[in-house]
Amino acid sequence: MPQIPRIVIVGGGIAGLLLATRLGDQLGRSGRAQVTLIDKSQTHIWKPMLHTIAAGTRDIGQQQVIYLAHASEHGFNYQPGEMQGLDRDARVVQLAELRAPSGEVVIGPRTVEYDVLILALGSRANDFGTPGVHEHCHFIDSQAQAEIFNQALRIRSFQSVVTNSPLRVSIVGAGATGVELAAELSRLLEVAASYGDPDIRSRLSLTLYESAPRILAAFPPEVSASSEAQLRDIGFTVQTGTRVVAADPDGFRLGDDSKQVADLMVWAAGVKAPDFLANIEGMASNRSNQIPVRPSLQVLDDDAVFALGDCSTLTLAGQERPLAPTAQVATQQAQHLAKYLPRWLDGGALPDFAFRDFGALVSLSDYNAFGTLGRFGFFRGGFIKGRFAQLSHAMLYRQHQQALHGFGKAMALWTAERINGLVLPRIRLS
Ligand SMILES: Cc1cc2nc3c(=O)[nH]c(=O)nc-3n(C[C@H](O)[C@H](O)[C@H](O)COP(=O)(O)OP(=O)(O)OC[C@H]3O[C@@H](n4cnc5c(N)ncnc54)[C@H](O)[C@@H]3O)c2cc1C
Repeated sequence: MPQIPRIVIVGGGIAGLLLATRLGDQLGRSGRAQVTLIDKSQTHIWKPMLHTIAAGTRDIGQQQVIYLAHASEHGFNYQPGEMQGLDRDARVVQLAELRAPSGEVVIGPRTVEYDVLILALGSRANDFGTPGVHEHCHFIDSQAQAEIFNQALRIRSFQSVVTNSPLRVSIVGAGATGVELAAELSRLLEVAASYGDPDIRSRLSLTLYESAPRILAAFPPEVSASSEAQLRDIGFTVQTGTRVVAADPDGFRLGDDSKQVADLMVWAAGVKAPDFLANIEGMASNRSNQIPVRPSLQVLDDDAVFALGDCSTLTLAGQERPLAPTAQVATQQAQHLAKYLPRWLDGGALPDFAFRDFGALVSLSDYNAFGTLGRFGFFRGGFIKGRFAQLSHAMLYRQHQQALHGFGKAMALWTAERINGLVLPRIRLS
């Protein structure tokens, strides 16, 4: 290892930005390592809040972290760029050309050299090649997609009011994204009633499709049952055990050959890491393009390359299933590497990653929240709901903010948000 190793982290999401912040503070500031973060976006957002950006119930401007500013405060470099390949022999990350919004190529394809590479590229929904989905459905996997959906939603809501017609929304995939988005849309239209048409909420007809026998299949059964009951209570249709086989411009086609008409369609099913990961020479990947890692979080046959968060897959000893792609896993893996990587660079050992299950929470906007607190939770494995569950869910984001900014700045951000909440519209209106 060179005297000043070059650590390159690709992907500044939940795992990557936390790790870059910690390594920048520990190693970058003192010159013990050169830490570089590469992301195709210029801003970071806590991904589990994307459905609120999509619904327009939160202001993106108040929630995003600007990489360039954050990097300069925490001793690392930020480079905008989209990774499209990796040459492990030459130890370089290959980046695509960088284009201006007009499409003009600003910088051609380039490479970035590394001594240690950490892949934290996240994931997106998986349409499993279902015909028409790519063309006709919205995805809520990035800030840009959430904003595009929000724009379409505002136009469709306006159309519904002016033409006195229903607003038919269909969501495929009843994981956390689909379920939380459904509830948030209902809440949005309740709030919107105070800005114009008092009947606007009653115009919303929403259907949630799930191929598994129950919604929130990765959560404990009581969380699924309570969430489904809550969604039905709000007036939504939940169709479990239903396969969507194609998307048309005006709705979904189902496995029983029926057609379900919709004005807005969202695809929130499945998980898939970026496609290029399946084509890196000599590096293994699974059917979802995720990279298998050892318990040290290093890829199978290369000690210089690590992968963490949703783009990786790890089955811990004694477990039958790999760790789920969740914010909790991504955070703990970043914390693990932040703790042990500096020692490993000095020749120390790299202990195995151990996951502490703090439970799983799902928030149905202001209506309710449900969850369990896991084996390490305060109430071991207990089922929680209501205000306490809502607060626990909100705390996950506040903890993330605190981990990135420190207690003082996180509190200042929270206070600014509360003050803005008093003076700004409660939903996005333009
Ligand atoms: C709407 C929604 C709600 C969710 N709710 C929950 C929840 O309640 N609880 C929970 O535990 N999990 C939830 N999740 C899942 C959770 O957000 C993910 O598990 C988590 O974000 C994974 O973190 P990560 O660091 O691996 O990836 P991400 O946070 O997705 O970050 C990946 C980063 O990589 C960048 N990137 C991607 N490709 C490239 C490339 N080729 N080149 C350069 N940069 C690239 C992206 O811009 C992004 O910044 C939710 C997800 C969504 C979409």
